[in-house]
Amino acid sequence: EQVVMDYRKSLAIRVFGLDVPRPIKTFQECGFLTQLMHAISKQGYEKPTSIQCQALPIVLSGRDIIGIAKTGSGKTAAFVLPMIVHIMDQPELQKEEGPIGVICAPTRELAHQIYLEAKKFAKSHGIRVSAVYGGMSKLEQFKELKAGCEIVVATPGRLIDMLKMKALTMLRATYLVLDEADRMFDLGFEPQIRSIVGQIRPDRQTLLFSATMPRKIEKLAREILSDPVRVTVGEVG
Ligand code: ADP
Ligand code: MG
Repeated sequence: EQVVMDYRKSLAIRVFGLDVPRPIKTFQECGFLTQLMHAISKQGYEKPTSIQCQALPIVLSGRDIIGIAKTGSGKTAAFVLPMIVHIMDQPELQKEEGPIGVICAPTRELAHQIYLEAKKFAKSHGIRVSAVYGGMSKLEQFKELKAGCEIVVATPGRLIDMLKMKALTMLRATYLVLDEADRMFDLGFEPQIRSIVGQIRPDRQTLLFSATMPRKIEKLAREILSDPVRVTVGEVG
């Protein structure tokens, strides 16, 4: 354990929480299915980034997480890869419809980037990904959501619109990601985030990623995450 601690310290990694799974050093240690390993190498990802080494085993174990790391550190794969595993773990016959994984991001550009990354890993598993953000026709989006998906990547405002239009339900949602939480707050999305969270069953797994951790996000995190592990990589937060 001390070796792990020293290793983390040398990389400016701080981890808080009880019974935290040990970090991994290779994707092989994650126990991913062959097709997911193929998709990972097809991306040119040879080894996990710092945040991925810490976050992957924590999220794969089912724990909630607060991940604080700067832009470009590979946070997307840290939540998308375990999301694929989470979805593949679900019983195939479910009466409910609607996404299993819900990802909220502050802007349409970010939502679109996450959508593209999620699709790369989802495709070979037959997992459908839908993007929901402003600037696209609401009718087209309504139709796409009605056709069904397992993952939805959304900006909070448009997702609320789609929920109001009953384009989707959150009955099946068990994996929620709030990406770039600080920017969502800066853009005034707190009420929308709270509304979305309130529509997802409380026994969900919740992941919150942010570049910084101001007090108001700390407060939200305490309210919506259960017994989270906090991972900080680098001199941020
Ligand atoms: P963040 O969300 O932390 O800003 P991203 O998830 O957008 O970071 O990743 C930043 C870049 O690093 C992307 O181009 C992504 O494809 C790449 N990347 C992510 N994980 C790895 C990895 N394990 N190996 C190599 N490149 C990676
Ligand atoms: Mg990101």
